[in-house]
Amino acid sequence: MPAATTAEADWPAYLAGIEQRCREQQASLTPIRREVLEWLYRHPAGLKAYDLLALVRQQRPNATPPTVYRALDFLIEQGLAHKIGRSNTFVVCRHDSHRLPGLFLLCPRCGGISELAAEAALQSLLQTLAQAGYRLDSPEVELSAVCPACLGRA
Ligand SMILES: [Zn+2]
Ligand SMILES: [Zn+2]
Repeated sequence: MPAATTAEADWPAYLAGIEQRCREQQASLTPIRREVLEWLYRHPAGLKAYDLLALVRQQRPNATPPTVYRALDFLIEQGLAHKIGRSNTFVVCRHDSHRLPGLFLLCPRCGGISELAAEAALQSLLQTLAQAGYRLDSPEVELSAVCPACLGRA
């Protein structure tokens, strides 16, 4: 899978950026938090909590679900990861920062998840919600959309 190869090659640079960001925000990227972030990074389609636990246990046989959930809570709080509620999957955030919520496309055919940069669309979505008197209650917007690969265009 070409996406995984690219992701692996980029990990040191990505991590350096994240470490910098955590220092600025005085957030401590402990080894377990870094490990969970790395597993998410290396799995562009996202991971369920129990898959993450199995991966973490390769190095830490005593890890328990709370170990993983506490690390995930931290990553989500720091804006480094997203929880995709519809499929209960966790994905790494590939954006520098979020002024707007993340727009996630969930492919119903392959189960793939991707985060789309769509500022203008999100801006007008939020505006429309506000005009109707609503405020978005989540840092993620999820849409079911068939991906280019499944459409045979990749
Ligand atoms: Zn994001
Ligand atoms: Zn697909």
